[in-house]
Amino acid sequence: MSTRSLGLSDAVYDYLLQHSLREPELLTVLREETASHPRHAMQISPEQGQLMGLLVELIGARRAIEVGVFTGYSALRVALSLPPDGRLLACDVSDEYTQIARRYFAAAGVAEKVELVIAPAAETLAARLAAGEAGSYDFAFIDADKPGYDTYYEACLELLRPGGLVVIDNVLWEGQVADPTDQEASTLAIRALNQKIHRDARVTQSMLPVGDGLTLARKR
Ligand code: CA
Repeated sequence: MSTRSLGLSDAVYDYLLQHSLREPELLTVLREETASHPRHAMQISPEQGQLMGLLVELIGARRAIEVGVFTGYSALRVALSLPPDGRLLACDVSDEYTQIARRYFAAAGVAEKVELVIAPAAETLAARLAAGEAGSYDFAFIDADKPGYDTYYEACLELLRPGGLVVIDNVLWEGQVADPTDQEASTLAIRALNQKIHRDARVTQSMLPVGDGLTLARKR
């Protein structure tokens, strides 16, 4: 996990932030609050958040999904980039972490846009599919438990419209995916999904060395 893009020197990373990052003040405050959290490495990097906001705008997303909210940095980025009538289905299992997220959604004036569901995301997404919502979402961000990634990818792909975008976090897993001696369950799960998406004819895809590795997959 990484709260900044992999492989850049400090000087180049600082330059990148100084010359491209536009971070609303509330997001800066949230990032600083989360930095003192014991699991702070779960937070995405600010340049990744900005890219996600741009992607949401680029595809004109109105309905979005997030699997793995944590303290809400990426959800808030996405919610701020959605149009006023946009909606984000935010899935997480932790009431404790998402209390922080709720506080920031309210402070940013986007609480109405975010439907936070505290339950296993596989169940939440399956319920939406059962309710006939297949093909009705524009954007999905997957950033939760890695053994669940394949299930989340399949469900999100079904929920997206053709031309919708699924974004998957931690696909380089601090480089551990490229270390064949690493046989940890999370590493195996990410490796398997990376391999699958590479060959997946249902999507147009690209793996970016942004943050901890980010795959973009556009549903055909
Ligand atoms: Ca992550």
